[in-house]
Amino acid sequence: MTTNVEQLWEFRDEPCKVCGGRNFRVLGARGGDAHREGAGTKTRIVKCRTCGLIFPNPMPYPAGEDTRYANVTDYFEDVMAVEGEAQRRHGDVLAHEAERRLGRRGRFLDVGCGRGEVVRAAGERGWQAEGCDVSAEFVRYAREVNRVNAHAATLEQMRYPDDSFDAVTLVEVIEHLYEPAETVRELSRVVRAGGLVYLSTPNEESVYQSLGNLYYKARGRDWVVNLCPTWNLYHVQGFSPRSLRYLLEHNGFEVEEMVVYPGTFAVPQGVGLWGQVERVGARAIEQLANALGRSPYMYAWARKRG
Ligand SMILES: [Zn+2]
Repeated sequence: MTTNVEQLWEFRDEPCKVCGGRNFRVLGARGGDAHREGAGTKTRIVKCRTCGLIFPNPMPYPAGEDTRYANVTDYFEDVMAVEGEAQRRHGDVLAHEAERRLGRRGRFLDVGCGRGEVVRAAGERGWQAEGCDVSAEFVRYAREVNRVNAHAATLEQMRYPDDSFDAVTLVEVIEHLYEPAETVRELSRVVRAGGLVYLSTPNEESVYQSLGNLYYKARGRDWVVNLCPTWNLYHVQGFSPRSLRYLLEHNGFEVEEMVVYPGTFAVPQGVGLWGQVERVGARAIEQLANALGRSPYMYAWARKRG
């Protein structure tokens, strides 16, 4: 099936959604002609000079959709491929760590809860836990399989009362949101003073991105490897420790811990001898990144002021 990308995406010229700035540095292009697999449509990628956020400018929106979350609702098959038990173990670590930092348990919310493993793990550790997710399919799974309290809605749509939660987690969520600052402001309203938020997201200033962008430049292309996967519109905000800190500290939270951590990055799918060289190169970059502390993943624990 061929699709007309002009009909799928609507491009809007917008400021940086973390700091509101309009002073950008152009990093290059991604999508369409500027993408290894020709996915999506060519889009300019910029970096905000004020806070360091990396994002498409103009910003692509699903055309004709009345929801700003249309970019995350077709994630079901990808996430179903992730092992559930690993997610549950991650949830257990988060629930344990939140209790250690807080000195007690209380009400726990997982935003973008997917299949509900984090909510389930927090519940098993004695938290009064619930989750929300824009995908009705996920929420049905979370309720039926993991037997958790989950809602098919965004955080904003839930309209929780002020000071509802002691700990809120967003596992690989913030990079999907068109309005990340609005969401963090809503978090600061629903989290009690002294309560915690945990956010994890890719580090867009890892060695992998820096060298990947240089690699394309050396081959005479203006492509960048940031915001992967970009299409079908997935990651629309690219954070670094600096921009994630800016987002939290300008919207009611104090960062307690910011950690950049190693992980296996998606390796290029090139074929033949060149593909093999690229794969070996990508693994070497991964090891270098780990050694330099500029790995591709990060998380932050932050505490609500007041
Ligand atoms: Zn900015």
